[in-house]
Parts: sequence; structure tokens; C-alpha cells
Amino acid sequence: MARASFGQIFTIIDLASWLRWLRQERSEGGFQLNDQTDSQLFLGHPKGLVTLFFTEMWERMSYYGMRALLVLFMTGGLTGFNPGLGWSQIEAQAVYGIYVGLVYFMVVPGGWLADNLFGHQKAVLYGAVVIALGHLVLAVPINETFFLGLALVVLGTGLLKGNISTIVGRLYENQGMEDKRDAGYTIFYMSINIGSTIGFVVCGYLGEKVGWHWGFGAAAVGMLLGVVSYIRYRHLLGDAGLLPNSHDEGVKERLILRSVFLFIFMLAGAGLLISGVVTISPRDFAENFAYFLTAVAAIYFVYLYFFAGLEPDEQRRILLLLLLFVAAAAFWSGFDQSGGSLNIFARDYTDLNFFGFEIPVSWVQVFNPIMVIIFAPMFAAFWAYLAKRNLDPSYPIKFVGGVFLMALSFGVMLVAVSLALQTGTVGVQWLLITYLLQTWGELTLSPIGLSAFSKYSPKKYTGQMFGLWFLASAIGGVLAGILGGDAMDSGLESMSPTFTYMIQYYAVIAIAILGLAWAINKMQSRNST
Ligand code: GLN
Repeated sequence: MARASFGQIFTIIDLASWLRWLRQERSEGGFQLNDQTDSQLFLGHPKGLVTLFFTEMWERMSYYGMRALLVLFMTGGLTGFNPGLGWSQIEAQAVYGIYVGLVYFMVVPGGWLADNLFGHQKAVLYGAVVIALGHLVLAVPINETFFLGLALVVLGTGLLKGNISTIVGRLYENQGMEDKRDAGYTIFYMSINIGSTIGFVVCGYLGEKVGWHWGFGAAAVGMLLGVVSYIRYRHLLGDAGLLPNSHDEGVKERLILRSVFLFIFMLAGAGLLISGVVTISPRDFAENFAYFLTAVAAIYFVYLYFFAGLEPDEQRRILLLLLLFVAAAAFWSGFDQSGGSLNIFARDYTDLNFFGFEIPVSWVQVFNPIMVIIFAPMFAAFWAYLAKRNLDPSYPIKFVGGVFLMALSFGVMLVAVSLALQTGTVGVQWLLITYLLQTWGELTLSPIGLSAFSKYSPKKYTGQMFGLWFLASAIGGVLAGILGGDAMDSGLESMSPTFTYMIQYYAVIAIAILGLAWAINKMQSRNST
């Protein structure tokens, strides 16, 4: 009995299975994660979820652990015990935004490669290895390879992040357990937040207190643990996402041709930049990238609505997904400032001294995942309670709720900024309240986002719709870098106008969503009478 409960505790961080593997005690009691168990289920869920849980946990550990340090490293002074790159806020925040934007944008080609070429399982494996390589490159204390490291993490995450989410859904489809799919995604969301908690704490401490590259190295170690555990337990996935969807023979040739073109194009671009024929500031790049991503999303929605041959009912659902998309992009543009402007606010204007110990700046960001873990079950119970009484808010109301809470969190920041203007620094409780509100917003918007995109997308487009969902994160990420740059450009003075502007745009978006939702409803009731 006592053994089993220790097993349970350790399994949470995968240690038990590690030790068991190392000692080759494969068929011990407690949790069986090996081929010798007959049952396909683990606590009522497909066993493969365990594999995905730990892989995603370690991947997010490395992603958030490194992301927490990124802006601090780029803006850190050139001298001192832990020298950074000495960049300006505008530059560093823009690079941060481009990085986050690219990470999520690459989910789209990553999904295409898995669908057409590798199958999702292999794509996740390749992605995990490339991410680990990226963090290893960042761990080497050479500034010249900084962008190479970032590029590898971007490419690897593109292969891993969307495809692992797709396999979650496939596991439930394969076992005829669709009714448990939402619960599966909730458990999966927990792995994300357990992983990021570990990442913030471990990478944050090492990066800030020992040396930036130690923090990046810890991210690499985390991702490597993810690679090993994925290889070890991949068989539990069975054939979920094993083979590519398309059996089109010509796909390889087309891919090679496209890759050659892309490579030449990128080489030419890099050549122009390096030779100095073309110079582009990170900020300009970020702005153009934001326009590009918005155009891609707009074209995709227009195509789906007008040219994909959808039934009127499916078209109406596309409009609903569009509203969710806009709300989500706006939401993430605030959320991702936790690693950007709010990170700098924690460093420069927050008192982080606790009983003589100066806590690492990046630890402040751990409030978000910890509060997700605490509040996710409560939110799930709350929605279920409302649904039982037929009071469950409609999707658009929930989207607006998420946006509203994000706006409110920046309202709290406005108060914190005005206090800091008077006293120099404020207590950490201001960021705590800000992150609490953002977490409530995340729990209102993000889980229903995933399930709405998997439920409401037209059947033949389901795979790509995940890409579309992450495209909202990409737009949000790059906007977070642009807005974060504006906010921090001249310290506290520039924060108030930027945050006020954000609150205004959230208000406009909320009103537009409510108006459009009302119009869509009207349209539907007119069609059905
Ligand atoms: N926190 C979630 C994750 O890391 C959502 C992030 C996002 O989509 N921007 O997966």
C-alpha cells in the first residue's frame, strides 16, 4: 500500500519509471508501464497518454525554462558576473516575440510533415531531438551561435507541439473513447503546467544565479529526459499517429522540390542580411511578421468559408471559430508578456527579497502554472455545475470572459506601475494578482479553444485546424514582443500608455465578438425558421 502511494508520487515526475528502467525491474508492483500489462488503460485512460504526458511535460519544462531567461539574457549587461547580450528593450522584446511567434507558426508545417510524410509519432520524436539540440547549442557560452540555438528550438517545437496534441485525440478515437477525450486534454494540460513549473524553478535558478548557459543547459537535460522517456514508452501509443494520413506517392518528390526552393530562398535572405545589402531591425521584422501571420490566418478563414464547399451549418461554425481565434490571439498577446515586459517589471521594479534571499526573477512566472494546476479542477467542476443547471455560458461569452480577465490583469498592472512611479519598487503581490487573473482567463478560454477546434472543424480539415489554433498563439506571441517593447522602451513611463492602449483594444475586441456572436445567432434563427 505504502509502496503504491510512493510509486504514485514519483510517477508524477517520472522518477519511478526511470529508476525501474535503470534497474531493469520491469515487472515490479505499483504502476506498470511496460508491455507485460494486458490492460490498454491507465486509470481509465488510454495508456499512451502516460507517454505523451511525460514527453510534453519535459518539452514544456525546457520551453518555459528557457523562455523565462531569454529576455533577461538578451537585455543583461555586458559585464558583471553573468554577462548578457546588452541589447535594448525594443530589440530584445522584438526578438522574443519573433521567437515565440515562430515556435507556434512552425506547428503548421510541422503538422503538414506529419500528415504527409513522417506520421505524428516520428514527427514528435524528431522534434524532441531537434529541440534538445537547440538547447544544447544555447548551453554553449558562445554568443555567435545564439540564433542557431533558437532556430533549432523553433523547428523542433514545430514538429512536436501540434503533433503531440493530435496524437492525444487519436488515442481516444482508436479506443472508441471519444467521450473521454476532453478529460484527456485536461490531463494533458496538467502535464504542460507541471513541466513549466519545473522549468521556471530549475532553469530560472541556474540561469540567473549560476550562469545563463547553465539554465539553457538544464533545459537541454530536461528535453533529453523527454526524448529517452518517449523512446522507452512509445510502444504504448500503439498505432495512434503511427502512419502518415496521406499515401500519395508523389509527396516525397514535391517535398524535396519545395525544400530546395525554400533553402535557396533562405540562403539568399541570409546572404542579403549578412552582406549588409539589406538591413532590417528586429522590430521591423516583428511588425512584418505580425502582418504576414494575420494575412495567412485571414486567407485561410476566407478560403474555408467561401471556397471549401461547406454546408451552411459548417460555415456558421467557421465563424464561431473565427471569433475564438481573434479572442485567443488577443489573449496570448497579453499572456506571453509574462516572459517579456512583465519579466522586466519583476526584475527592475519589484522587490524580490524574501527574508534576505533574493528570489530569481523568473520564479515570479511560476505563479501561472501553479495556479493552473490549482484552479483547473475547480473551473472544470464549475462549468459542469453550470451545465447541469443549463446555465453554461455560450462559447462567445467564455471567449469574452477570457479577454475581459486579461484586460483586468493589465488594469492591475496600471495600479502597480503608478505605485512604482512613486516608490521605485512594489511588492510581488501585484504580479501575483496579475497572473491570477490571467490564469483564470486562460482557464476560461484555452481548454475550450482546443476542444472547440477539434469538435467544430469540418471533418476533412481537422488536422490543419490545430495548426490554425496555434496560429492564434503565434500572432499573440509576436504581438506580445511588439507591445512589450513599447511598454519597456522608456521604463515605467512607457508602461502606462501601452497597457492603457491594450485595455482599449481588449474592450473593442470584446464588443466586436459579442456583436458578431449576436449576428451569427440571428442568422441561424432566420435560417431555421
Ligand atoms: N500554456 C499553453 C502551452 O504551453 C498554451 C500556450 C499557447 O498556446 N500560447 O501549451
